[in-house]
Amino acid sequence: MSLSIATVPVWSFEDKNVLTMYHGTEPHPVEILPGTIPPYIKLDPFLMGLGIQPGRREEHRLVLDINQRDLTIDLNTHDAYYGRTKAPFSIQERDGALYVQTLHLVKVFSDLLGVQLIYDRPSRSLHVPKIEDVVATIRTHRRGERYQISVIYNQGLRAPKVEKIDRSLLLKIPRSPVIIDKTRMEPNEAITSMEVFTNLPDGSTEILFQMGPGVSSYTVDPFSPNNPRTLIDLRGDFTPESEIETGLPIEKQVGIQRIVIDPGHGGMDRGALGPTGLKEKDVVLDLAKRLKHQLDMLGTYAVKLTRDDDIFLSLKTRTAIANHYKADLFISIHVNAVKQYNAKGSETYYLSMDSDVDPDEFYHYHEFEGATGHEEEEEDPIGDDLTMMLWDMAQAKHLEDSFRLAKYIQEELNKLAGIRSRGVKQAPLKVLKGATMPAILFEAAFISNPLEEKKLKESLFKNQVAEAVARAIQNYDGDVKAKAQRGLLVPVEDPEP
Ligand SMILES: [Zn+2]
Repeated sequence: MSLSIATVPVWSFEDKNVLTMYHGTEPHPVEILPGTIPPYIKLDPFLMGLGIQPGRREEHRLVLDINQRDLTIDLNTHDAYYGRTKAPFSIQERDGALYVQTLHLVKVFSDLLGVQLIYDRPSRSLHVPKIEDVVATIRTHRRGERYQISVIYNQGLRAPKVEKIDRSLLLKIPRSPVIIDKTRMEPNEAITSMEVFTNLPDGSTEILFQMGPGVSSYTVDPFSPNNPRTLIDLRGDFTPESEIETGLPIEKQVGIQRIVIDPGHGGMDRGALGPTGLKEKDVVLDLAKRLKHQLDMLGTYAVKLTRDDDIFLSLKTRTAIANHYKADLFISIHVNAVKQYNAKGSETYYLSMDSDVDPDEFYHYHEFEGATGHEEEEEDPIGDDLTMMLWDMAQAKHLEDSFRLAKYIQEELNKLAGIRSRGVKQAPLKVLKGATMPAILFEAAFISNPLEEKKLKESLFKNQVAEAVARAIQNYDGDVKAKAQRGLLVPVEDPEP
């Protein structure tokens, strides 16, 4: 299901005049016209790699058949024509073979195939995501005062477009056919019906959503090929949420519903740094977005990030966001850094109320109370000692649940790393202190370890971490529901391994 677009070639061709094409698993060599920058690559082996027939020449034109659509290349003007589009397509003929400028080729073939081609200059590789059937899963939900349509795609594709036509919203997906999963699509007061048109002449698929009379505006989230989905928010005059019968079974109500994910650091606070310069603040944001995506796919949780951009947030603001959102879980994501370059694996922490704990005992010292510069400067909105103490105690009554959650997460991360023994840890983490819900912090890997830093750059590893944590959350959620159903506590093991 997933794409291999981020694969880094582990070997390269000796010959500098060869580009490696990835389409599926087998690398496929394509000749480069010597001395060209950006490189001009030989057209026929590129087409062969995609399983496309060589084109037919008609005077100064070359016509190719791509997914039953014509691509006409004018060999004199160096333009490509497809549908109503005209795009630059620089081409050179050498010894009877045609060579095409790679960046032009990437643009035109991304449009025609409906997947994003990626040319990686340093490794001289061209990645063409495998073209499988696109499955679009459509869901409609109430989100507070608004309604949301989410369309989740099973693979990366060119950005779909949304436009308003009278009282309808038209979603145009630049692929055909698209398999539509609408089992989770339920008409409501904002979205009253839906129609699908696939295999349109321009190779696209259209979905027309009919809007109810209460809808007054809509917004569409920016599309990212790494997290392929279309999210449309509908606002307007709707029935107050309190008057809507949820219809959810009782056990749904007792489990986890809202989750806040906190990517550590951000803005001026870059966190730890890897040997090649990878910044903690960037990699944890990426991990947080992937985890949110995994959880969104389950369709049962409302998930919010404390930051979805490169901005600075104080530690208190982070828990305040979770408290305000009435989150059922707070998950802070970090990566570890230590002097021993070979330290590896993941670690999960929950709060220790014990002020005697020696922060030096813990690797990620910059997270701990008093150890970070900007925390000292931060104005404390709560002045007197009593409220300060209450703030400090907020997490106290959730410690047992926090431990249980940490344990589920560490278990999954251990499985991922192939480690059995590592247990959860306790530390005086300031970011968890004010949380009024079960709260944990996990360190996904050691960014200071060159091998782990490399893994942190790979989508595969980051997706595995996200999947592991999402699984752990589901396990924990199941545990909470079982506990509520039985009306008794699930036995907890001793925190000390
Ligand atoms: Zn950190």
